[in-house]
Amino acid sequence: MLKEHLHTFSQQPTPFYVYDLPLLRQTLDVAKAEAAKYDFHIHYALKANANAPILAEVLERGFGADCVSGNEVRRALEAGFAPDQIVFAGVGKSDAEINFALDSNIFCFNSESVQELEVIQELAAAKGKTAQVALRINPNVDAYTHKHITTGLEENKFGINVWELEELVPRFSQWPNLKLIGLHFHIGSQITDLRAFENLCVRVNELQQWFEEKGLVFPHLNVGGGLGVDYRTPEENPIADFAAYFAIFNKLLEKRPGQVIHFELGRALVAPSGNLVSKVLYLKHGQKTNFVILDAGMTELMRPALYQAYHKIENLTSELPPMTYDIVGPICESTDCFSKATELPETKRGDLVAIRTAGAYGEVMVSEYNLRDRVQAIYLT
Ligand SMILES: *Cc1c(COP(=O)(O)O)cnc(C)c1O
Repeated sequence: MLKEHLHTFSQQPTPFYVYDLPLLRQTLDVAKAEAAKYDFHIHYALKANANAPILAEVLERGFGADCVSGNEVRRALEAGFAPDQIVFAGVGKSDAEINFALDSNIFCFNSESVQELEVIQELAAAKGKTAQVALRINPNVDAYTHKHITTGLEENKFGINVWELEELVPRFSQWPNLKLIGLHFHIGSQITDLRAFENLCVRVNELQQWFEEKGLVFPHLNVGGGLGVDYRTPEENPIADFAAYFAIFNKLLEKRPGQVIHFELGRALVAPSGNLVSKVLYLKHGQKTNFVILDAGMTELMRPALYQAYHKIENLTSELPPMTYDIVGPICESTDCFSKATELPETKRGDLVAIRTAGAYGEVMVSEYNLRDRVQAIYLT
């Protein structure tokens, strides 16, 4: 598919991100249709990709926004998301960020600690406002994903532990400026074993039951995001299995009458439609390893260096017989390696390669380490 656009690419300085907007639209439409079957509400997790043309497509489908910083709340507002469609999570919200979100009248703070609740109460009281909050509970559910992107285990920093709830619940009576409207969970990312979500549902049901025994019934349940994508064979599965994902929650989650179920999806919505295109600078042939040295590095796509993430790499311009390479970037770090022992058609200086499935947690993590130029983005419409 990308090869059809080589003409466009040849005029573009490398490296650059290229976003396939038709695939993005198709993905968003599928997600929307599958969620609509059960009246589920989707918030898009801006941290996956906050580029304006992408946010515009998300907004057009009526999704809300899931933010994890004050600046993400600001970006969501600038993009046109209504304040009452914005949720704000994050384990370390600063006072300035909380104040900004209060001033913006966002829908809900997903609160991650008891002390944070105290601070939101204090700041909301100072403004004479009421803040809607959901408790982000650490459900101690294994996401069966890479340990660096698991968030729902007790050893992870996220959320309020279940054993803290007993003491926490009565304190809400002393917090007149907080309105507890729901429970929030997010167990991790790139989850491909859907049993993790089944386990989450069981845990949410237990917790919901526990709160009800204390007289608390919530209008909102937010089960987070985390649905994974196919990094290995993106052409076979360009769109994540939203049907199976939402069906699990519909089947297992014990929804109360009138309760709204919220999801926060990032990766599954945007990862497949983004690719990082890079030019081959040099070949280096060793006794053990042949290196392909690209003009893109960990500064443009950090996932492989950060959590050993796999991205499929294609040579867009060579049709020669395959050889085995380590594909690396130009940055002065040994972890600046995209892929080891990888087969590519025999590769030459000047070839263009595409690093696939880079639409999520790619461009948003760009760094200027080594004083790198800011990577550009283009959009296939
Ligand atoms: C990152 C994040 C998400 C989105 O996760 P994906 O794996 O990209 O779907 C959702 N909710 C919260 C609180 C997050 O931090």
